[in-house]
Amino acid sequence: MKRTHHCNELRPSHAGETATLCGWVHSRRDLGGVIFIDIRDREGRTQTVFDPSDLAPELFALAGSLRSECVVSVTGKVRARPAGTNNPKIATGEVEIHASSLVVLNYAEVLPFPVDDPETAAKVNEELRLQYRYLDLRRPEMARNLRVRSKAATATRVFLDEQGFLEIETPTLFKSTPEGAREFVVPSRLHPGQFYALPQSPQQFKQILMVAGVERYFQLARCYRDEDLRADRQPEFTQVDIEMSFIEREDLYSLVEGLLKRVWSTALGMDIPTPFPRISFQEALNRFGIDKPDTRFGMELVDLTEDFRASAFKVFSGTIAQGGVVKAINAKGMAGATQGQIETMTDYAKSFGARGLAFIKVEKGEWKSPIVKFFGDVEKEALRSKLGIEEGDLILFAADQWLNACEILGKIRLYCADILKSQGKLVIPPNRFNFLWVVNFPLLSFDKEQNRWYSSHHPFTAPVDDDIPLLTTDPKQVRGQHYDVVVNGVELGGGSIRIHQPDMQKMIFEQILQIPSDLVKARFGYMLEAFRFGCPPHGGIALGFDRLVAILCGTTSIRDVIAFPKTAKGTCLMTDSPASLEPKQLRDLHLECRVPQKD
Ligand code: ASP
Repeated sequence: MKRTHHCNELRPSHAGETATLCGWVHSRRDLGGVIFIDIRDREGRTQTVFDPSDLAPELFALAGSLRSECVVSVTGKVRARPAGTNNPKIATGEVEIHASSLVVLNYAEVLPFPVDDPETAAKVNEELRLQYRYLDLRRPEMARNLRVRSKAATATRVFLDEQGFLEIETPTLFKSTPEGAREFVVPSRLHPGQFYALPQSPQQFKQILMVAGVERYFQLARCYRDEDLRADRQPEFTQVDIEMSFIEREDLYSLVEGLLKRVWSTALGMDIPTPFPRISFQEALNRFGIDKPDTRFGMELVDLTEDFRASAFKVFSGTIAQGGVVKAINAKGMAGATQGQIETMTDYAKSFGARGLAFIKVEKGEWKSPIVKFFGDVEKEALRSKLGIEEGDLILFAADQWLNACEILGKIRLYCADILKSQGKLVIPPNRFNFLWVVNFPLLSFDKEQNRWYSSHHPFTAPVDDDIPLLTTDPKQVRGQHYDVVVNGVELGGGSIRIHQPDMQKMIFEQILQIPSDLVKARFGYMLEAFRFGCPPHGGIALGFDRLVAILCGTTSIRDVIAFPKTAKGTCLMTDSPASLEPKQLRDLHLECRVPQKD
């Protein structure tokens, strides 16, 4: 039974040798009295042949009884396949094993879905795949994803080790902290009425490790956020978490560029160019309408505010008079959009707060639009030259306050790109990776409802030195030493240089973020205290590892690169969690459950 080769190993040079393979019955074909069984293991598959003319009848009958996914061991002579029967789709396609023995290691019942055919498997309902995840993971595409993930993790560890980083585990039983996402909590049995919280990130521990003199820390950290799940979020996920002492932003940029270069070359054999371009938050919004721009295509936002300041078209000039802006994009080749499509796009823009979506279609040399009649010649010329208007174009406008106008058009730009992609008018090569750094984010954002400032990133991010005096006079203008690394419109990670002076950190908590001082003491007191005992300047980053692997694997869903993901409702369909507890367990935890009755 002991295997001599794996199922992706035998080649014509092995002809004449005796080999034993172990694996699953991938497929069985009974042809003209001869049975062909493809044996699959995690490496690949190999054809075995059972010929009744030289096999004991029981053995031949056994081969004939095997169902897909039975676990077997087959021994026989390796031989070249007869001329004309090679299978160029698999690496072992020039050979087969002429079976002389067969051991059935285990039987398999009829599967809930096939795992041998990528086409059918791709159509299987995802809930069924998640319920029988062990079968789903047998599919070669999924097995490949697990392998890419493992390779990326190893490359990360090796690279960071070479750079002098220590891999250190931090607790997953932490405590609740205000700010940030909702947390998962764990009741304490030994301390009635008290709770741990699962960490949203090891942020505080990694900073404390800097105070501890570790200098260079990393961890492939599991993090937990109890948010209402959106399509591509998981309640638990993995970050490549990094923190370093005595650095400035530039040091961190080159470290992460080196790390991603290594990961891409290990996992995909690709050399990605470094350094990555940098773009400020302001410029990213101005040009792409989003702080994680996909720069693989143009369709950039064009500012028309000065051109329409005195326009007869009051929707534009009125918005400008109130401090707003007018911006537009040119969706080349989309003039053919139907009324229905324009309405759908308008509704989409409205769902993000737009009041409407003005447009011009350029068809048969004519500008078709309900608003063009209000435009003067100078305005039309400005549009023509700034947007490069040609036959077939669709121009879409946003007139609003700066941030809104940018964000609305940013979303419409992506929406149009999807349509153009589906029509084959926008082609992006699959192995194109446009990395960039987005920098100079505002340190603070204003929460109108609560009438207070909150941290755009988190409260430990340091302000840009030159902006410190503005903290108390004009907080909106303060830039944070925060950076995001973005690839193809996806935020791969973010981090910052941290505040390391205890007084500054206390001031941010209490005066700027308005957290009551007793709460600051209860939640962050230990950190402020630690900072008073010699805290080095430090900074770090966290990269979303699931997303990174999804990009490497070319899949849009992070569920495809997590062995046992949860559904969008946060459940595990295989183990059926979450689940209720026995009354005794609840008593031990000093808990009582009041679940509203379902009608
Ligand atoms: N802790 C941050 C996060 O999880 C990353 C960082 O600032 O290093 O987003």
